[in-house]
Parts: sequence; C-alpha cells; structure tokens
Amino acid sequence: MTGPLAGKVAIVTGASRGIGKGCALELGAAGAIVYVTGRSTSEADHPLPGTVGATAREIDELGGTGIAVGLDHRDDDAVAALFARVLDEHGRVDVLVNNAFIVTDDLTSGRPFWEVPISNWDDMIDVGTRSAYVASAFAAPPMVAAGSGLIANISSSGAEEYAWQVAYGVGKCALDRITADTAHELAPHHVSVVSLWPGFVRTERIDIGQAAGLLPDTLDLSTSESPRFTGRAVVALAADPDVARWTGRAVAARDLADHYGFTDVDGRLPAGPLRHRAG
Ligand code: NDP
Repeated sequence: MTGPLAGKVAIVTGASRGIGKGCALELGAAGAIVYVTGRSTSEADHPLPGTVGATAREIDELGGTGIAVGLDHRDDDAVAALFARVLDEHGRVDVLVNNAFIVTDDLTSGRPFWEVPISNWDDMIDVGTRSAYVASAFAAPPMVAAGSGLIANISSSGAEEYAWQVAYGVGKCALDRITADTAHELAPHHVSVVSLWPGFVRTERIDIGQAAGLLPDTLDLSTSESPRFTGRAVVALAADPDVARWTGRAVAARDLADHYGFTDVDGRLPAGPLRHRAG
C-alpha cells in the first residue's frame, strides 16, 4: 500500500453513491483502509445506482482497501457495532467522514415548510445531523487515545443562507455547530473537526436527471464539481500535519483546493459555493 494515507483507517458514512462515495474513493486512492457504510447492499435497494460493495471494490482497484458495511445510521446499535468492529480489526480510527444524508423527495420541490410532510425534518435531521453526532461520539475515544484524528462533516453553505428547505438549513447550521463544539472539546487531544461545504456536485442523481432531460435548462453544470472533489479536500486535510489550523471551521472544498493546490478529476477548478468563498 502506498500513498499519503497508507496504513490509515477511515470510515465514510453514506458512501454507496454521491459525495460519500467520492470521499471514499479518494481516501482509497491515497492508500487508506476505508470502511464504507450505507443501506444499499443490492442495486434493488435504491432507485439510484450504487451499493457499499461496489464502492469497496472500486477502492480496491484504486490501491486502497475497501470494506463494505451495510447499515442504517438511524440505528445507533449498528453504528456502535461498526466502531467495535473497526477497533477490533485495526485498533484505530484515523479519519471519520460524516456524510450520510437523506435527500428527501420534497427537498427540491420548492414547496414551503408548511406544505411538505413533517417527516422531512426527521429524515434530514436524524440522518444528516444526529447521525454525525452519534458517529463522532464513537470515533472520539480511539482518536483521543491516539492523540490524533480528523472528523470531516459534509455540510453546505445552506448553513448560512436559505437553501432548498427550512429543515435543510437548520440541519446544516446545527452540523456546523457540532463541528465547532466537538472541535473545542477535542482540541486538547489534537483531534481536528472540519465542516466541508461542496459546491454544486454532479452526483448520480444529477447525471440521471440530465440524461432523462429532467434538469432545468437554466442549470449551469459547467462550474459544477465531481463527487471526488470533496474527497480530495478530505485527503488534503487528513495528510496535513498542521490540520489543526482548520479545526472548528466550516470551509468550502473549493477554498481548500486553492490552499492545497488540488484540482477536480478533470484538472479544472469548479466554482464552489459562490457566495461563501473565502475572500
Ligand atoms: P446522495 O443522496 O447522493 O447520497 C447520500 C448517501 O447517504 C448515500 O450513499 C445513501 O446511501 C446514504 N444514506 C442515506 N440515508 C442513510 C441512512 N439512513 N443510513 C446510511 N446511509 C444513508 O447525496 P449527496 O451526495 O448529494 O449529498 C451528500 C451530502 O452532501 C449531504 O449532506 C448534502 O447536503 C451535501 N451537499 C451536497 C451537494 C450536492 O450538490 N449534491 C452540495 C452541498 C452539500 P443508501 O441509500 O445506500 O443508504
């Protein structure tokens, strides 16, 4: 195993597709052992393509070690069992990426909060926010014991400005607060926590929507980013001996590209979350 993260152990939640998969692939390409979670263990489990097993196989092909773990992040006991297994098999957790998120059918409907089911709140807060708190609580003890570690919370500029739905913004704002406050408590132990804001990402959902002609003509994909761009930001942070400089902050992946000098997979730099780039 070679690469800047050779020998490191990472967990990426919600990595059967989308940005979580992009993070898992980049960590694998950097040589890490990557546990990937998600509910989809078969292509029949979700209308969009992707399974944890397929992601794990792609990690292996990229030079890392992928380990698929089918689980639902609403199930705290299953998450506890995941961390127990990782510690049993490797005795360490170096990187946790909290990414699992339920994109509800109503998210992009444009309907106001009083016209969408209350379940939108439960889906996005339980899985997008609470699950990050839970996984962080399980990751902290081994990281504290090691005196090192990185937790990356996949957030959004929706934490600071209106995006999609009330519950979305509330969940992201709370996630960034989790980042700030867990970073505060972990700082004496040299464990760093960073919120990452992707820009507009071409996930499987976008690719399929585009192929089906379902995307609005006004949508400009030319400045969008691949799911692996955020993964490159995670790898840059995980490989940085001075990662503590970012701890507690919410940072656009695009700004980290400027700082660390990485590009997207096509060699270009995407726009990032336009209104919230560091000046
Ligand atoms: P996707 O829907 O493409 O992927 C979500 C992932 O989470 C899937 O792997 C899914 O797997 C997993 N997941 C969902 N529910 C659960 C659960 N209960 N337990 C375990 N895994 C679960 O989403 P995106 O990649 O688009 O978004 C990921 C994050 O990035 C979100 O927090 C989003 O807000 C943020 N973001 C996205 C942007 C974009 O342009 N896409 C822009 C800015 C931020 P499975 O179904 O197999 O469980």
